[in-house]
This record gives sequence, structure tokens and C-alpha cells, in this order.
Amino acid sequence: AGILNFCANNYLGLSSHPQVICAAVRALEEFGAGLSSVRFICGTQSIHKELEEKIARFHQREDAILYASCFDANAGIFEALLTPEDAVLSDELNHASIIDGIRLCKANKYRYKHMDMQDLEAKLQDAQKHRLRLVATDGAFSMDGDIAPLREICQLAQKYDALVFIDECHATGFLGPNGRGTDELLGVMDKVTIINSTLGKALGGAAGGYTTGPKPLIDLLRQRSRPYLFSNSLPPAVVGCASKALDLLMESNAIAQSMAAKTQRFRSKMTAAGFTISGKDHPICPVMLGDARLAAVMAEDMLSRGIYVIGFSYPVVPKGKARIRVQISAVHSDEDIDRCVEAFTEVGRKHGALP
Ligand code: PLP
Repeated sequence: AGILNFCANNYLGLSSHPQVICAAVRALEEFGAGLSSVRFICGTQSIHKELEEKIARFHQREDAILYASCFDANAGIFEALLTPEDAVLSDELNHASIIDGIRLCKANKYRYKHMDMQDLEAKLQDAQKHRLRLVATDGAFSMDGDIAPLREICQLAQKYDALVFIDECHATGFLGPNGRGTDELLGVMDKVTIINSTLGKALGGAAGGYTTGPKPLIDLLRQRSRPYLFSNSLPPAVVGCASKALDLLMESNAIAQSMAAKTQRFRSKMTAAGFTISGKDHPICPVMLGDARLAAVMAEDMLSRGIYVIGFSYPVVPKGKARIRVQISAVHSDEDIDRCVEAFTEVGRKHGALP
């Protein structure tokens, strides 16, 4: 009782939004508990098609395809799209599901240093010998809350004739003036070719993922993508929930703006208190502590003060870069944020993280 959750990906608080819950219940009642089928047999209902159209509209893309998760979307795309004559260039800190998806494809693999544009350019030059080049990056990186330099990536992609793929799991719904994501934030919506994202974080938090992009690509995925072809269709309640979440975000950017203001409040108050917060302007706010044990004992002590946060240490993050990853949500009140900062300050002083 009274414990505040500061470690969920529920960035917009939509998983407990009454209209989202109501839409899920209605879909459950009208369309049943599940389809007992993959999409192309008897697993497609009107609501699946409507949600795909809505996702494409939200991102201003031609078409979209649903998956059971973004992990599946990442597992399915590279193998379906790339041949042994092609090349994929991936940021070294990309999410595990991108890494696994790339492992499954037969394209030539290049790994560039994290957000290092000189290294990416060198790798793009080397990859000129291949038929097609795809640069793959997280839009926002979940461990550090840092944002990929998409403007520069898109410029390089143009120069070296490459496509750009972004994973927007930690951006969709809240980054950019209208919450469209990293591409909107950085003004490159017309330059990023493919977006994969999740319905399981800001968009209601239930489950599901998708790819959105050019129609011929989506058509190809429907023919060839193995997690789409061989895994069950999304349950109606999950579809109903995501669909309502998107309606709310397309009606107004107020929820996203409120989260941004709270992020700003937390980051500035924590910095003023003497903590180092990694990343910039992102609701993932890693409180950098260095020592693994310090991160663990501080997180434990925070819980005893009613703040639920988790310490991250090696091998999840590099050695010597242990941290407590705080995630801000639109449902946190200003008082909640202040309570969290106060608890950090007390606990930080007690354990020597602050003077
Ligand atoms: N990509 C990134 C960057 C993620 O953070 C996650 C989830 O942790 C995923 C993909 C997988 O998303 P899902 O939970 O929809 O499978």
C-alpha cells in the first residue's frame, strides 16, 4: 500500500486509463477471448485490420502489420527483407531482439560503435559492395535514455544509399511534439523507412508489436515473416486496448506533454540534488551510481520508503556503470515526483552517494 511504481514502461499511464480498460472489455465481449488461429487462416477480424490502419495513420506511413510482440516484429523483419547479397549495419547497443533478428538473417553484418557517426560512415563505405544496405537502431536506448542521432543517420543513409530502420519501443506515443516518436522529434519522419514498435509499453501496456512502413514491405512481411505466419493472432481485448490508446493520442497530445513536464521536473530536481542523470529529455532517467552494491542497497532502501525502483548492474549494463533506472509516467503527480526525489536524496546521503 502506498508504494509508487517508478520502474514500469507505462509512460503515459494508459494501462490503467478507464477508456482503455473499457475498450478492452467491449472487444472481449464482442469479438471473443481469442481466435485460436494465425492471421492468414481464420485469425483476422475487422478490429485487427482497423488497428493496422490506425497504426499506419499514427506514424504517417502507408501500411502496418501486427505481431504478438515487438520481439516478434524484430525477429521477423531482417530475414524476410535481406538476402546474402545485402548488408545490415547495427548500433552495438541495440536491443536484444534486434540483435537476435539480425542473427536470423543471412545478410552481411556490420556493428557500429554506439551512436558513433564516423564509425557508421566507415562501415557504410565498406558496405557499398553489397546490393542493399539497412541501418538499424533503437530510436531511444532503454538503458541510458539516450536518443539516436537520427538526422545524422538519415544524412549518411542518403549519402550511401541505405535504408533506415528504427525500433521505437521507448518512443512511440510520447517523443516528439505529437508523440509520434524519435523521427518526429528529430524532424525526419519522411526519411526513416521502417518503424518497429510495441503496444506493450506506452500504448496501453498489454502486449503486441508491429512494423509500419511502405506498403510493398508490409505485403512482403505478410508473405514471408515467420513470427507473423506461424504465431497466433493478437487477442481482441489486446487489440481493443491498443486501438483506444491510439485514439486518445491522436485526439490530443496533452497526456504526452504532461509526461514530458514531469520528466523535466524529475531530471532538474535530481540534478540540483547532486545526482548524475544519464540521457536527455527522456522519461528513462538512469541515476548513475557506478557501484553495483550501492545501486542494489539504495534500491532496497527506496522501497522501504515507498518508492519502487530497480538497480541495474553488470552484465545488464557495463562494469562500473551501475545505476538505478527511474521511469517517469504521466500518472505520477508532481507530489509523487517530489516524494521520489526526497527519498533519493535521503537514501543517497545515507549510503554516501551524495555528500
Ligand atoms: N525493442 C526494445 C527496444 C525493447 O525495449 C523491447 C522490450 O523490452 C522490445 C523491443 C520487445 O518488445 P515486446 O515486449 O513488445 O516484445
